Amino acid sequence: MAYDNQNIFAKILRGELPCIKVYEDDLTLAFMDIMPQTDGHTLVIPKVEAVTLFDLPASHYEACFITMKKVGNALQKAFSTEGIMMFQLSGESAGQTVPHLHFHLLPTSIQTLRTSKHAAQMADQTVLQGFADRIIAALD
Ligand code: AMP
Repeated sequence: MAYDNQNIFAKILRGELPCIKVYEDDLTLAFMDIMPQTDGHTLVIPKVEAVTLFDLPASHYEACFITMKKVGNALQKAFSTEGIMMFQLSGESAGQTVPHLHFHLLPTSIQTLRTSKHAAQMADQTVLQGFADRIIAALD
């Protein structure tokens, strides 16, 4: 699928739309999911035009995994859990709604996951900012 540079995450990367950022480096950005499935639900995106995982250039593989590990470690500390669920939906038929590659990281337990719904309800921005502050404080 051709990359649409008007998608929401492309606009966030260009600074045209706001996000609640927890981490950024030259190749990746991590920010709070606006409709979290659990407390602390964070997204990691590459700073490259890629719709799905299969469009990601090899030059960005390592950066994505380093950031997922960094944010995942911080989520474990900030939410006092060793359980971090990670998932990535590639393609509309797999349920992908934003056509810029993103990895979901959720501090969670199997009980929470059984009852939570994907992208179902907008969260209060102040609450999200509070979670982001806890994650930022837990980053190494
Ligand atoms: P997916 O269904 O895997 O494509 O996930 C897209 C995710 O992006 C969902 O979990 C949405 O809640 C989230 N989302 C959509 N718009 C925004 C936004 N402006 N800021 C942060 N997260 C967003």
